[in-house]
Amino acid sequence: MMIELREHYQEIQETLAEAARKAGREPEAIRLMAVSKTRTYQEMLEIFSCGQLLFGENRVQEVQEKVPQLRREGMRLHLIGHLQSNKAKKAIELFDGIDSVDSLKLANKLDGYLTRPFPILLELKTAEEDSKSGFSSQDVLFSALDTIMKSSYLQVRGLMTIGPLDGDEKKVRVAFSRLRNTFDAVQTRFAPPGFDTLSMGMSGDYRLAIEEGSNLVRIGTKLFGNRG
Ligand SMILES: *Cc1c(COP(=O)(O)O)cnc(C)c1O
Repeated sequence: MMIELREHYQEIQETLAEAARKAGREPEAIRLMAVSKTRTYQEMLEIFSCGQLLFGENRVQEVQEKVPQLRREGMRLHLIGHLQSNKAKKAIELFDGIDSVDSLKLANKLDGYLTRPFPILLELKTAEEDSKSGFSSQDVLFSALDTIMKSSYLQVRGLMTIGPLDGDEKKVRVAFSRLRNTFDAVQTRFAPPGFDTLSMGMSGDYRLAIEEGSNLVRIGTKLFGNRG
């Protein structure tokens, strides 16, 4: 089973490189986040030993339970799931970055607890579905940024979105190009230092995401297999 994981990891690397080339982009321009929610720390270590440093998790409590406080040197854990304000303090202790900041309230809360520079991504809702988290529009995100740019410790490193999950290629492209446009607009209007990350694309839609300019894909299922 562990051997299988190593093979999956190699396959993913090759698949991503090929998708990049097909889209006319350099393979090195696309980074991989290994999404390890529901997986054991052992499984994470197996992927870590292949050279993967960046892992994504969606629940504070799960990480608290499964990841030892002294984790392997170099391993970086980012939160990619919705964070409730009352878990903000815990989250900044456990994570190296939060890629799913979706409200000004949460950003303020995080900044209040922080005592070190801390990278975040802002999550934008780019699909129509109501259930999804994220800033509801570019305007709302901009108005939050007016404040976040003045915060002491938060470093806005980029944007994140979850594409529509119903698989319609056209809709997925529209969502991803929306994030791309907002990314460019943030760059022009705010130019946050180190603003370079466009996190979009998962196991089912990473190809389209790469074609639409993603430079960080978040892969779970295709790497670890189906979840429970
Ligand atoms: C679970 C999850 C992923 C990975 O999804 P897969 O389809 O398993 O690759 C990516 N991003 C977020 C925000 C997730 O919650």
